[in-house]
Amino acid sequence: MTDDRLCSRAREAVTETGRNGLPGDLRRHMESCDACRKYAWSVEALRDSRPEEPLYTPALRVRALNGLPPVSTCRNFPWWILPAGLALQIGISVVVPGVVLVRTLGLIVHDSRTLTALTITGLIGLGGLTALAGVVPVGLKLLKEKNHA
Ligand SMILES: [Zn+2]
Repeated sequence: MTDDRLCSRAREAVTETGRNGLPGDLRRHMESCDACRKYAWSVEALRDSRPEEPLYTPALRVRALNGLPPVSTCRNFPWWILPAGLALQIGISVVVPGVVLVRTLGLIVHDSRTLTALTITGLIGLGGLTALAGVVPVGLKLLKEKNHA
């Protein structure tokens, strides 16, 4: 067996089992080969420097869990938050623009059916513009990232 092949076999065995588990031919090689002996020392030094205790101890677990906010506060919000938020959302996105449209268009159009149709059309248009304002920048950013990748 050539020295190179013996060296690679010896280093592989040292990495897996350590020097004590080597078969006779590899142990003899270790005694005669400086490079493999230095390799074995470095592997043993790495093994010795590794901490034996687990990094995640029960005490650390307790401290980490105590640092988290209690789960119950997330579920204890008042019942009226959801309907109030929904009402506020509808008010901001539908009622306020609707009133503004009716007042503005009411200066020009005096027929109530036409005014209602124009207001509804205006609200739909506003919704579309709002969606575009949200979607277009994101789409442009994604296209830019795709071109850079
Ligand atoms: Zn060797």
